[in-house]
Amino acid sequence: MFVGVGASRVRDMFEQGKKSAPCIIFIDEIDAVGRHRGHGVGGGHDEREQTLNALLVEMDGFDTQEGVIIIAATNRPDVLDPALLRPGRFDRQITVNLPDVKGREEILRVHSKKVKLAEGVDLAVVARGTPGYSGAELANVINEAALLAARRNLKGITLAELEEARDKVRWGKERRSLALSEKEKTNTAYHEAGHALLLELLEHTEPLHKVTIIPRGPSLGSTMWLPEEDKYTNRKAELLASLAVSMGGRVAEELAFGDVTNGARGDIKMATATARRMVCEWGMSEKLGMVEYGDHEDYVFLGRDISRARDYSEATAEEIDREVRTLLDEAYQRAKQILTANRDKLDVIAKALLEFETLDGSQIEDIVKHGRMLNPPPGIAPRGGEKMEPEKPPKQVVVAPDVTPPLPGALGGAPA
Ligand code: ZN
Repeated sequence: MFVGVGASRVRDMFEQGKKSAPCIIFIDEIDAVGRHRGHGVGGGHDEREQTLNALLVEMDGFDTQEGVIIIAATNRPDVLDPALLRPGRFDRQITVNLPDVKGREEILRVHSKKVKLAEGVDLAVVARGTPGYSGAELANVINEAALLAARRNLKGITLAELEEARDKVRWGKERRSLALSEKEKTNTAYHEAGHALLLELLEHTEPLHKVTIIPRGPSLGSTMWLPEEDKYTNRKAELLASLAVSMGGRVAEELAFGDVTNGARGDIKMATATARRMVCEWGMSEKLGMVEYGDHEDYVFLGRDISRARDYSEATAEEIDREVRTLLDEAYQRAKQILTANRDKLDVIAKALLEFETLDGSQIEDIVKHGRMLNPPPGIAPRGGEKMEPEKPPKQVVVAPDVTPPLPGALGGAPA
């Protein structure tokens, strides 16, 4: 509201606030006017600066007895002018983190008020299945589920729609229509089988949820695992295992075909990022010790951070690169050794994927333990048809898109 209108508008607003007290003045995206003065792109002494000055002056002349509370929101606390955050102005800062399981359930409850849920749908189940989802994503889950239910002529949204919507919001829509050659399908099946088998065989991994060769979003297949609960830390053993799992797709292609595709791009990118953070941020390299290398602010955007320099020497930079490389090489060797030793299982999983397209964790477990599935899936599900009720409470979530960009913890592989 302020941009381009200026300081007088700020004074007006406070005037109005005082008149209508008690009231709350809420300023969204405060960084638009509250940016650090004398910095930033677009020059210093511009109108925005006057607007900010007006805001500061008004806030100073304000007293707590007037019954006006000022709240502002931003995603960029790092670029705010420090004057704004001084006591007497905005004197409390509240960080709004991603919601935990309880929070997600409440958020889902709010958004589902506008839609009709089928009898017996338990939003707590959905909340458990959506770790790492933001409020906006949860709203989107409900919305997508409502659309799905409408398309299926259902009277209310069932868990099946919620689960499908959740997957869609996180990993993109299934693209069943994408025509793949047999060769590509086989390659994807081996690639995903490699991830899945390692996830099942290695210790310190999350439980395998689902593996599929149905294309989704930009990926041709995905291996999904599901954390048993919200997780805020990762042990080194878990990170090393996840690196090995990331390598599994590429290694499986190599073992099966003696050649590789570019489908491991997302895996490589993700593994490299994890390894680098282990070395540079998390002190998990013995050689480099518990030192932070570089500036790893979470908010690296234009503006203030643009000129930050590296804080270590050229020699250290080389050492970091070597350590990252070592972590990745070791993960690759570990993946290769395990998959080579279990080549028979890799073949069974890949073949089963070609036949059934999607397997769940318990089916992979059967193959690992018994060499075959004890409860094979009923066959390929009819496309877009009636709801398929999950036999188990739909746990969900996971991470594993075989895609390049997504969230922390994703995994998978297949040509984007
Ligand atoms: Zn992969």
